[in-house]
Amino acid sequence: MSVSFDRMWSDLASVGREPATGGYRRFAWTRTDHDLREWFAGECAARGLALTEDRAGNQWAWWGDPDAQPGVVIGSHLDSVPDGGAFDGPLGVVSALATIDTLRQRGITPAVPLGVVNFVDEEGARFGVACAGSRIITGALTADRARSLTDADGISMAQAWTAAGRDPESMGPDDEAVNRIACFVELHVEQGKALALAADGVDDLDDPARAVAIGTDIWPHGRWRLDIPGEANHAGTTRLDDRRDAMLGLATVVQSARQQATVLGCVATVGKVRVEPGGVNAISSHVTAWLDARGADEDAVRATVSGVLADSDSLGVEATEESWTPTTAFDAALVSRLRGILPGAPLLGTGAGHDAGVLATHGVPSAMLYVRNPTGISHSPAEHAERRDCHDGVMALTSVVAELVSRPTDRTNGSGQ
Ligand SMILES: [Zn+2]
Repeated sequence: MSVSFDRMWSDLASVGREPATGGYRRFAWTRTDHDLREWFAGECAARGLALTEDRAGNQWAWWGDPDAQPGVVIGSHLDSVPDGGAFDGPLGVVSALATIDTLRQRGITPAVPLGVVNFVDEEGARFGVACAGSRIITGALTADRARSLTDADGISMAQAWTAAGRDPESMGPDDEAVNRIACFVELHVEQGKALALAADGVDDLDDPARAVAIGTDIWPHGRWRLDIPGEANHAGTTRLDDRRDAMLGLATVVQSARQQATVLGCVATVGKVRVEPGGVNAISSHVTAWLDARGADEDAVRATVSGVLADSDSLGVEATEESWTPTTAFDAALVSRLRGILPGAPLLGTGAGHDAGVLATHGVPSAMLYVRNPTGISHSPAEHAERRDCHDGVMALTSVVAELVSRPTDRTNGSGQ
């Protein structure tokens, strides 16, 4: 297992890596994405798995026939945020493939089909909607809206599909793909420090009992696009009193987001801005900023965003809600089975969205496993997991899958939501 994990991990190390930052730029439907998809297809072919692509472009590799009966699915995504880390997404895909190898080494043949998925465009880094692949097949993101989403260069998803050799008219909900899933378990690097911290709040990276956790729920979260108006003018000749500087509006929005989130016990982030005209010697005529807000309580998250808009009301800021996801509880029956298989594994809620959450919302029994991240840093080149913890993750996933494929999961028992 560790041999195949290590080999796959080093295969992926250079794909989409930006030498200047050490981070990854693996955006949906780009050349890099194509290379990652080809890599995934090759790994699946080498294992004799049957590869299919659904109506959103997600890749599914099956051991056994999921049309005979729904199967257990593991996997994650291979795309990244701009200058993201190596682990967010690929850890789940590589661990899933290594799990298949481990099952085979142990002579286990699944009694139900076993699938490995590579979800496309999970981060939404290029077109602005996270979990686009799982949202399209479940109908949470309509094909019309998806096709018309544009990237920073004005290229629509429809155009990107065409450039990648896909027919954008074929995009849409895919009941066939969804109905093949009896349950989904997504292994993911932890995106916080909960597992790295011992009970006394001090780093404890040696406790093997805290290498892997079971996910319980995903916090409500949303993304808003804020258009902040200004007036372009000369940075040297325009009197301060005469200026309408969109960057000042941005400063208000950023400060307010921090303040409102602090008061309401949430987190709020402005992590992406587009400045026009974008010249060092030009007063900004327009800023587009994206506000990301999350928290354990839905009303508090909504109130955080309302507060930011109230604080910036006099600036003429226009807000567009690009996505909203309520609290997502993972399937109680499945979580309970995982707790039985991995006794002593900590239980974790998270502020990060995942395809497992989209499927859970759609009623597909889903759950997650998290692998310890010693720094808690994610969406950054500093994101990390120790190799021994990655191997522990594969062993945990193997134990889970070995049990889940020994008898079918009854979808009608899933609480879903
Ligand atoms: Zn991820």
